[in-house]
Amino acid sequence: MKAFEFASPVTLDQALAELPNDVAKRDSVKLFAGGQDLLTEMKEHLVEPTKLVNLKRVPGLDRIELAPDGTLVIGCLATLGALAEHAETKNFFTCVAEAARSVGSAQIRSQGTVGGNLNQRPRCWYYRNEHAPCLKKGGTECFAYSGLNKYNAILGGGPSYIVHPSDLATALVALDAQVTLRSAKGERTMALEKFYSLPSEGDVTRETVLEPAEILTHVRVPAKSGWQSTYLKFKERGSYDFALAAVAVAVKSDGAPRTIRDARLVLGGVAPKPWNVPKAAAALVGVALGSAEGAASSKRAGELAVVGAEPLAHNAYKVPLVQGLIVKAIEALAAR
Ligand SMILES: Cc1cc2nc3c(=O)[nH]c(=O)nc-3n(C[C@H](O)[C@H](O)[C@H](O)COP(=O)(O)OP(=O)(O)OC[C@H]3O[C@@H](n4cnc5c(N)ncnc54)[C@H](O)[C@@H]3O)c2cc1C
Repeated sequence: MKAFEFASPVTLDQALAELPNDVAKRDSVKLFAGGQDLLTEMKEHLVEPTKLVNLKRVPGLDRIELAPDGTLVIGCLATLGALAEHAETKNFFTCVAEAARSVGSAQIRSQGTVGGNLNQRPRCWYYRNEHAPCLKKGGTECFAYSGLNKYNAILGGGPSYIVHPSDLATALVALDAQVTLRSAKGERTMALEKFYSLPSEGDVTRETVLEPAEILTHVRVPAKSGWQSTYLKFKERGSYDFALAAVAVAVKSDGAPRTIRDARLVLGGVAPKPWNVPKAAAALVGVALGSAEGAASSKRAGELAVVGAEPLAHNAYKVPLVQGLIVKAIEALAAR
């Protein structure tokens, strides 16, 4: 690892003043939160910043609060462990708490932050290998496309076939979360879904639209009165692992039997960004949870969710896996 300066600002403005405006200097100064992903990347020579800006001494950014209007406001330094155990998150934004709980191990969750999790880099082994000059590192080829692509994208891929690694992002997109991005010039807010970009859109070496001078300070999840949600993740091993595939499902229902009036369905582990499938979600609307008709609509949602899937040589298994997860997730909501 190369030597670097370590700045520890104690206000957000001081932290923002450390960041470069120049895109060419994007990787020379890096924000340091839990450090789990950043330090790994530095040790592997994937990034070699000359300065780290430690966010952890900036007060207040670790709060998780319910605003008076019911919006869940999550500071970027909140740990995944704190979010997983936060009572209101568990009660009213269940899939977010479940996704946070599904990340790594207890140690990883107590160190990893929400901001770091949403901004972590892809886990594709070609990207993570410093000796593989892939597209993500400014090369000319996605080695996964014709190589070992068991863990890569079946949807939205090309020219790079990474999958988005964050469990939390998938659940937050399902609940229409917004992110606040601060720079010395001001603040902008956007849907988390728009924060992420596909490899075919813009700069293939990036996964987000974050500017070099910006910090993601907060995530806001709007109140979801009458909604229930769940996050289901399938891993290759019983111990901690990233998702082979995952689904976040949210439904608004009423009446007896409970009839679905609105739905959101987002896939994880299968695309370079959380993969929102509104047409699949629409197939769930109008049917009673737990009914025979409901079971048929879950299967139909599974079929619609993978429309356009283009599996690579070693990852066609993700198609039935996602379909099965959708059915199981809706069964789980019916049983609550
Ligand atoms: C063994 C292991 C297993 C894991 N398993 C999973 C898993 O199953 N699911 C999952 O979702 N994650 C998983 N992770 C990722 C982990 O949960 C952390 O979220 C992640 O490593 C980064 O969090 P951090 O706070 O350590 O961020 P850091 O490493 O400090 O930062 C990561 C990146 O985000 C940037 N950044 C940090 N904060 C901000 C901010 N506020 N605004 C803008 N940019 C910012 C940094 O500059 C850096 O580029 C795993 C990690 C490890 C090491």
